[in-house]
Amino acid sequence: MTEFHKEQCFINGEWLGKGQTPITNPANDVQIALVPNMGADETKKAIAAAKAAFGPWSKLLAKERSAILRKWYELIVANADELGALLTKEQGKPLAEAKGEIMYAASFVEFYAEEAKRIYGETIPSPYPDGRIVVIRQPIGVIAAITPWNFPAAMITRKVAPAFAAGCTAVVKPAPDTPLTAFALAALAQEAGLPDGVLNVISGDAQAIGGAMCESPDVRAMTFTGSTAVGKILIKQCADTVKQMGLELGGNAPFIVFDDADVDAAVQGAMVSKFRNAGQTCVCANRIFVQSGVYEEFSKKLTIEVEKMKVGFGDEDGVTQGPLINDAAVAKVERLVGDAVGKGASVTTGGKLHELGGRFYEPTVLTNVTKNMDMTTNEIFGPVAPLYKFETEDEVVELANATEFGLASYFYARDLGRVWRVAEALDYGMVCINSGILSTEVAPFGGVKESGIGREGSRHGIEEFTETKYMLMSGI
Ligand code: ADP
Repeated sequence: MTEFHKEQCFINGEWLGKGQTPITNPANDVQIALVPNMGADETKKAIAAAKAAFGPWSKLLAKERSAILRKWYELIVANADELGALLTKEQGKPLAEAKGEIMYAASFVEFYAEEAKRIYGETIPSPYPDGRIVVIRQPIGVIAAITPWNFPAAMITRKVAPAFAAGCTAVVKPAPDTPLTAFALAALAQEAGLPDGVLNVISGDAQAIGGAMCESPDVRAMTFTGSTAVGKILIKQCADTVKQMGLELGGNAPFIVFDDADVDAAVQGAMVSKFRNAGQTCVCANRIFVQSGVYEEFSKKLTIEVEKMKVGFGDEDGVTQGPLINDAAVAKVERLVGDAVGKGASVTTGGKLHELGGRFYEPTVLTNVTKNMDMTTNEIFGPVAPLYKFETEDEVVELANATEFGLASYFYARDLGRVWRVAEALDYGMVCINSGILSTEVAPFGGVKESGIGREGSRHGIEEFTETKYMLMSGI
């Protein structure tokens, strides 16, 4: 079996760098590893390695690249338990969720192993008697990927698997809090037979690494998942080399429960959408709008479910909510709850630090939340469910769209006309109807407005890693 607990960076097939930066378990602050602190120089080396690897990798048959991706997928699945345990240790989420993420991460590798063989071009009826028009798609080149800590495995495979399928090579910068899962994935890719230089993983100074990625003319695409603020920095930094950009940025997801909804189903959906990963996902319900006719019933039932949650260390049996990632995350949740309560919101359960202390926050439900409260316009990124009351469909659509974000949205309704009207009116890249979870490798994930550019997953996820080439064949 592969030894994939690496504490070094991965450049051109070699494990490099010495341990400088401690990685700690967010549940108890215990140090679990020491990783290198790399910067611009190492990034340039990795880009050079990826550039050298690009020619041979892109010239392999699609079927050959597919076979290596398939092998990588199988190794991830075979090691899912251990990878999940590692992920819980560095990120904090409950073990069941961590393993779920590993399988979700693997699903992108499987999907794009298959999709590698289907990067089709087209022929177009020609306007010239002696000309024929053919369109082919070619890999864009070296790509850079910067990923966040909330999904340390899936955000990497969702980016690099389609890139590799297309024939691209990659330099990846995982989040500084969670590099170990990234190193482990790289070790398994190496075992799967991914040639040296195709995947490089560098951990260290975010600004220096990101800066070197952005300024390099050899990097042809930047794919990023993280905050809108950093996304905007990257857009500016990539302007000089006019890179292709794929951005998955912040969200402010509305979750709407109409009077005609199945309220029990809506409660279950809200639990999944709100409390997965302790509320730390960009698609978590951030504003829960409940129509007045079912407001009381929904808030009571949701409170009962939330009180059943078990907070604790992710590797303990039965735990459904782990710690928040760091002290700043806890401080933000405390500030937003304090602001809401100060302006008239009521706490039906939770509302404070958990008795375990540290970074554990109680799963919380707030009622009487109104749009003048700070959490209406801020991503809470914590286990707090704010319930807003509304009266009409038009009113709630307007409220839901009153944000610069547009990633995921959710609503529960049974009236077919309403379902279509609201689904079409929501200004979001994703609309989830009568369910609380929509992420899957087969569908295009992504946002509109300041939530990002491009789509990940599905056949669309390969688009940003290929260039379209038009060839006019004349003189026939
Ligand atoms: P979050 O709030 O989820 O931590 P960030 O956008 O700060 O979101 O972080 C997402 C990723 O972006 C991380 O890998 C982080 O290290 C990286 N990052 C942060 N600042 C920069 C920067 N100036 N240049 C490049 N990458 C950055």
